[in-house]
Amino acid sequence: ATPTALLVGTGRGAQLGILIKGPEVLESTRRVDTVVLDKTGTVTTGRMTLLEAIPAPGVERTELLRLAGALEDASEHPIAQAIAKGAVEELGTSLPEAESFRNSEGKGVSGIVEGRTVLVGRPSLLEDWSIAAVPALQAALEDAGSRGRTAVLVAWDGAARGVLVVADTVKPTSAEAIRQFRALGLTPILLTGDNSAVAEQIAAEVGIDRVIAEVLPHDKAELVSGLQAEGRVVAMVGDGVNDAAALAQADLGLAMGTGTDAAIEAADITLVRGDLRSAADAIRLARRTLGTIK
Ligand code: ADP
Ligand code: MG
Repeated sequence: ATPTALLVGTGRGAQLGILIKGPEVLESTRRVDTVVLDKTGTVTTGRMTLLEAIPAPGVERTELLRLAGALEDASEHPIAQAIAKGAVEELGTSLPEAESFRNSEGKGVSGIVEGRTVLVGRPSLLEDWSIAAVPALQAALEDAGSRGRTAVLVAWDGAARGVLVVADTVKPTSAEAIRQFRALGLTPILLTGDNSAVAEQIAAEVGIDRVIAEVLPHDKAELVSGLQAEGRVVAMVGDGVNDAAALAQADLGLAMGTGTDAAIEAADITLVRGDLRSAADAIRLARRTLGTIK
């Protein structure tokens, strides 16, 4: 295509809410055959709500909410915000301030609240701290997962103390976007740090049949390069800080405009409206601009 055609293409993109970093991006957009999708905040709204708080035997529900809520108040993760907000609402008071806080990317958070060492996150986070599983909590975790919900464990002073269940909802436009990817001959793949049961449930809701779950943030980029090694030309769509490396690794990185600055900086294209259908629009636009209608 001529330089003028490329400029017209990027200009048309801007009108559609597709911000393209430079005209050269259109060529990789045209060649894409696989679309890797982050789950939380990309396929789903990422706006979670706290649905259930399940204390372990002998634990007070208010204490579970207060300690977990206080720790999560220091985190910006969508799960954390849902827990802090839900705790404040149910307790009817403000939360104590965490004395220290640490984020274990893709696993959860840890810190000190009211002099206690508190953890909130995936089972693997508790394993890292050599905290034994509690069968009743393990069962609650698996039950929530089988219903497509995200559940996290809470521990303090060396023992698991409860489960908190949050839910996220699929964006109303996601299933339509997946249909459009297929119509364009692209293979959609869901990639997430969340557990397999939740990931499978969301994938079924939007019509994705390949799921890669329980992936740590620094392994997302490696998974993308693995797909490239199979000969695929990979587009990655994401929104989080934890997606930035994978967005940079992909042949084409697309960030949700509703996402983090880190994701937007790492990507080649920003989907201003946070609507997955814009990713299909971008690919159609590139094919049209470069004159290969597939
Ligand atoms: P995704 O790939 O879907 O965007 P993340 O990589 O951000 O998910 O998180 C993966 C998993 O790690 C979550 O499903 C949750 O179990 C756990 N996790 C991450 N951050 C937190 C947190 N602040 N509080 C509790 N759990 C967390
Ligand atoms: Mg995300």
